[in-house]
Amino acid sequence: MPRPILATIHVEALRHNLSRMRAAAPDARVWAVVKANAYGHGIERAFDGLRGADGFALLDLQEAERVRALDWRGPILLLEGTFEPRDLELCSRLGLWHVVHCEQQIDWLAAHKTQQPHRVFLKMNSGMNRLGFTPAAFRAAWTRLNALPQVDEVSLMTHFSDSDGPRGIAHQMKTFAEATRDLPGERTLSNSAATLRHAQDAGVRADWLRPGIAVYGSAPDYPENDAAHWQLRPAMTLTSRLIGVQQLQPGDTVGYGSSYTAEQPMRIGVVACGYADGYPRHCSTGTPVLVDGVRTRLVGRVSMDMLTVDLTPVPQAGFGSEVTLWGRASNGQVLSIDEPARAGGTLGYELMCAVAPRVPVTVD
Ligand code: PLP
Repeated sequence: MPRPILATIHVEALRHNLSRMRAAAPDARVWAVVKANAYGHGIERAFDGLRGADGFALLDLQEAERVRALDWRGPILLLEGTFEPRDLELCSRLGLWHVVHCEQQIDWLAAHKTQQPHRVFLKMNSGMNRLGFTPAAFRAAWTRLNALPQVDEVSLMTHFSDSDGPRGIAHQMKTFAEATRDLPGERTLSNSAATLRHAQDAGVRADWLRPGIAVYGSAPDYPENDAAHWQLRPAMTLTSRLIGVQQLQPGDTVGYGSSYTAEQPMRIGVVACGYADGYPRHCSTGTPVLVDGVRTRLVGRVSMDMLTVDLTPVPQAGFGSEVTLWGRASNGQVLSIDEPARAGGTLGYELMCAVAPRVPVTVD
């Protein structure tokens, strides 16, 4: 018998979430962001659910090759562009669109011998201070790119640092709009949070959205809003089973460091899932979990291969009972990935990307 842990990818949920993003900005085209192996879901596994997108945005040439191998003939965007000059060769061969965020990438293009002109997205650093040309340098970069015979279309891009929070996007929108006012070309600005929270702004809706996290069913602005608020469905369920049950008496402790002490008689269940499966070690007593589809909580520390849960709310549970670490239980109850993520001091992004290779994955 294999160890009872399983990640399930829900193709229908991906389809649904993508349609939610379209509904938020119906006139925009949508890049489904599938970097980091489709946020841990697996590019090949997620593809069926996301093939209704207008294009795929991803990180590197290997991921682009995998999408082309799925017979995707439409647009693919390299979000950080090329990492060295020879990447341009494969870019041409695969027909990729790519971001240009620094002078070096323009130098490489200028020196590149290509039959096929490149479509590039010139990236502005409008305040994130990660990648991109400053607003002051943007126009010169745009002019330089437009003069290159290697380039046939220049589109404009920026990325928001606070679309999920109180600072918002107004300051970056203003910077971007001012610096690009009279520049032609399509725009791509908005990630999940900008799309869901700020789509009343026409600038946000132009022209290509770039949603990632919402497509996978996690709320980009949790805990202010949760996935149910945005009508997003979990695209991944992580399930395990109880492989042991213990009866504790008052004063008994649980697990390494004896961090939890029973105050009254209680049953605890031992779950075949630990930090070596990608479950965060920082989730400790109180982290929500579903046993037989009933909400209960972790008690004690997460160890490498196991964690322990309070069975008080689920008296019928026993050896073999289903445990849903996140996602959808067999009885239809949902535990959003955002909840254990927050309890562990992190984000749904990190949990979905961190499911360990030893966890078998299935698609439904
Ligand atoms: N665009 C860029 C440049 C990104 O780096 C990311 C993700 O980090 C996204 C879009 C998608 O963002 P989100 O997953 O928050 O929707």
